[in-house]
Amino acid sequence: MNKDLSLRSLLGSTSLPRNEAYILMAYVLNKHYQLPRSTLVSRDEMELDGLALEEWQSLESRRLNGEPVAYLIGKRGFHNIELQVAPGVLIPRPETELLVDIALQEIKRLEGKVKHPNILDLGTGSGAIALSIANEASHTQVIATDQSTEALSIAKLNAKFLGLETRIEFAQGSWYEALKEDVMFDVILSNPPYIANQDPHLNQGDLRFEPIDALTDHSTGLSCLEAIIIGCPMHLKPGGLIAVEHGFDQSDAVVGLMKTAGLVDIQVHRDLAYHPRVVSARK
Ligand code: GLN
Repeated sequence: MNKDLSLRSLLGSTSLPRNEAYILMAYVLNKHYQLPRSTLVSRDEMELDGLALEEWQSLESRRLNGEPVAYLIGKRGFHNIELQVAPGVLIPRPETELLVDIALQEIKRLEGKVKHPNILDLGTGSGAIALSIANEASHTQVIATDQSTEALSIAKLNAKFLGLETRIEFAQGSWYEALKEDVMFDVILSNPPYIANQDPHLNQGDLRFEPIDALTDHSTGLSCLEAIIIGCPMHLKPGGLIAVEHGFDQSDAVVGLMKTAGLVDIQVHRDLAYHPRVVSARK
């Protein structure tokens, strides 16, 4: 008997969670037949053939093996944009949207005071933070840095795809070392590697497939946060805002670093899961 290769049968028999199977199948339909996602419902008797069938089987087994969905389909939604992602960059997380919202609120506050607010995103990865801000606030000037040339080339590609390449400048290097010395910012943002080197999460789930240098500082988890916070007064305008993302149990330590740096108006912000996730402060 011929095997049933209809969408209904393939989706019905996979051991993947339903939402993941649908995302991967929609990707296959779009890539091989230029069909929309709605085909999954409207034409579920359709059979896959040739390369499309091979691709479905390969994606299904790679996902069952743990590879992140975002790397398999090469993209991820973040804030109001879609980003291309590949194993050279961290997959943008919903928690990080909090950092973007804090920055947008500050940019709004500066309206009528600063014509072109200067924003810095340290360790931009896919460009998630910098590009969301450039996309939402068209009067800003955004500089995005990363140490990894691979990450920067993905971030540049994203800027191009989103039509934002003239709005954003990229610089390579470790934290502030990437900058020309005399630039001062209204807002400094970063979602640095903050997982401690011994943290068992590094060996679980999507994290196993993400760039290790984007996840951990290979130390206590606080060394990058420290470099960013202690260095910020040199690069913030008076009254300028810094906001950094951190691990759920690092908020006291990050507040301590902000105090050591002489910053004021220190605030802890919670994510949707109610974990302290971002600390902001002013020079
Ligand atoms: N800034 C990027 C993001 O938030 C990358 C962060 C990182 O690689 N640690 O997704």
